[in-house]
Amino acid sequence: MMSAYQIIDHVYDAVVVGAGGSGLRATMGCAEKGLKTACITKVFPTRSHTVAAQGGIAASLGNNTPDHWTWHMYDTVKGSDWLGDQDAIEYMVREAPAAVIELEHAGVPFSRNENGTIYQRPFGGHMQNMGAGPPVQRTCAAADRTGHAMLHALYQQSLKYDADFFVEYFALDLIMEDGVCKGVLALCMEDGSIHRFRAHAVVLATGGSGRTYFSATSAHTCTGDGGGMVLRAGLPLQDMEFVQFHPTGIYGAGVLITEGARGEGGYLTNAEGERFMERYAPSAKDLASRDVVSRSMAMEMREGRGVGKNGDYIYLHLDHIDPKVLAERLPGITETGKIFAGVDLTRQPLPVTPTVHYNMGGVPCNYHGEVVTLKDGNPDAVVPGLFAVGEAACVSVHGANRLGSNSLIDLVVFGRATGFRIAELVQPNSKHGKIVTEADDKALARLDHYRNASGSTPTAEIRLKMQHTMQKHCAVFRDSALLREGQELIDVVFSTLQDVGIKDRSLIWNTDLIETLELDNMLPQAVVTMHAAANRKESRGAHMHEDYPNRDDENWMKHTISWFEKGQVTLDYRPVHDYTLTDEAEYIKPKARVY
Ligand SMILES: Cc1cc2nc3c(=O)[nH]c(=O)nc-3n(C[C@H](O)[C@H](O)[C@H](O)COP(=O)(O)OP(=O)(O)OC[C@H]3O[C@@H](n4cnc5c(N)ncnc54)[C@H](O)[C@@H]3O)c2cc1C
Repeated sequence: MMSAYQIIDHVYDAVVVGAGGSGLRATMGCAEKGLKTACITKVFPTRSHTVAAQGGIAASLGNNTPDHWTWHMYDTVKGSDWLGDQDAIEYMVREAPAAVIELEHAGVPFSRNENGTIYQRPFGGHMQNMGAGPPVQRTCAAADRTGHAMLHALYQQSLKYDADFFVEYFALDLIMEDGVCKGVLALCMEDGSIHRFRAHAVVLATGGSGRTYFSATSAHTCTGDGGGMVLRAGLPLQDMEFVQFHPTGIYGAGVLITEGARGEGGYLTNAEGERFMERYAPSAKDLASRDVVSRSMAMEMREGRGVGKNGDYIYLHLDHIDPKVLAERLPGITETGKIFAGVDLTRQPLPVTPTVHYNMGGVPCNYHGEVVTLKDGNPDAVVPGLFAVGEAACVSVHGANRLGSNSLIDLVVFGRATGFRIAELVQPNSKHGKIVTEADDKALARLDHYRNASGSTPTAEIRLKMQHTMQKHCAVFRDSALLREGQELIDVVFSTLQDVGIKDRSLIWNTDLIETLELDNMLPQAVVTMHAAANRKESRGAHMHEDYPNRDDENWMKHTISWFEKGQVTLDYRPVHDYTLTDEAEYIKPKARVY
């Protein structure tokens, strides 16, 4: 054991890393079942990125238009471009209405219809009648601050149960022994103490890795720490090539304008003032799914019809909507428009551009939240003791493209399911084995290495290079040459991490060190994203490969899984689950995806 670091021990039944929507729901679920539960989070729970979710949460309540869970299932499978696992999708959409009612009872102040039911708005790709249309109103909203309302309600609820919170603790690494997860090692950022959390179940709820890109709607804390820990543990990530660009990030600032803006009647125009989405998606128009709208915008700009001096943005119009409706349903983005674009959106259009928003890929797991891997030919081999939920996970319900408002529902449905599964597997207060320190030693050696790193390149410089490389070489449109060059460049950026230097050697609020540890989590994921994208020779969902413009179900309807060891990427595949959970749902056969 390294003498420089004292370890403080904690013993739990279950430990959840992350206090966003998914982590809090999993924490609540475990604690509610009498399990001794800890939740570790690097930011105060209500500062997790879930707080920024605006538009809403999808469930087929049918309050504003007719709806059915089978319709929600159809849209999600189609939205995923047939890369989603249909058993998991069935589970999510069937549980969704109950999960939303549960949130209502937990205190989420949803917007209301005249008759008192929860207000639901239209969102991209959500339709009535098994995709036939017209658009369905399925997205439950608390004005345009749904995530904020959810996170506060969930935090309050989880305090009611007997869970322990370790706030501003940075999880460093998983404690793995012979392929079994036994806990997690963390650094208390306030005083630099090291903590070993031993647990029978560890849940990764660490959110997405949007910050591998230069322009992202996600918070600066979205550095994919869970994915980094998983790769270091010798386990694979899944479908990392599928990165969602949201059509409406504010030009320059990257701040999000919710799809709810188009749900409430907003529309896009090019430099000629044309509502161009009518050409690309004649039926759904501005409410086609995100990959389709982002691509159409990029196409307009590429063909010289972008707005502005450099033709590099598009206009989003809300100026035709009654200001009263804007004030009631979209107050947050009205403010955002003013602050970040200097635009009064009751009178002027907003400059927007596609911006990185969501990672469809993540830690592969089943619909119980159990992490799975490909082992001895078994594509669904469970990794004992390890679970993943939320954006960090890849269940996979979103496949190659997530529908708007399907993430918030994923958080609560699978957060809850994971709690159930852990309660089935773990007896409260059951004994822990002997401490084996091999994993701890490795984790502490890594910490010590970065803390004393004296190379010549600052963390911020390497991070910026990574972000620009991803933004240029792995964006909305990709082709073989761009990706090949991208692979070489990102590999070089990865190698410069060996030359990183930090200035602060202390362990007390050492943000220099924390940002370096975050970079060490992000960079391997940037590398596997680029390599997986270069490898997938078709176009599906968010992955648009111009040399292979069509979807190729025969060769590519499969999940990519990628390992990263000693700077090398290894790729393999898991089959897509082409079966449903019950006989009540019908398998949705692949067909061309038009909106
Ligand atoms: C601006 C914006 C708007 C959105 N709007 C919507 C919407 O309207 N509808 C919708 O469905 N989806 C929306 N999304 C997507 C959705 O909000 C996210 O996918 C979701 O909130 C992610 O939740 P999470 O629980 O997985 O993680 P997060 O909420 O990102 O939380 C991650 C947690 O992990 C903790 N953590 C991370 N690393 C560590 C570490 N090393 N040690 C300790 N703790 C760690 C953090 O402290 C945090 O508590 C939006 C996303 C953005 C960015």
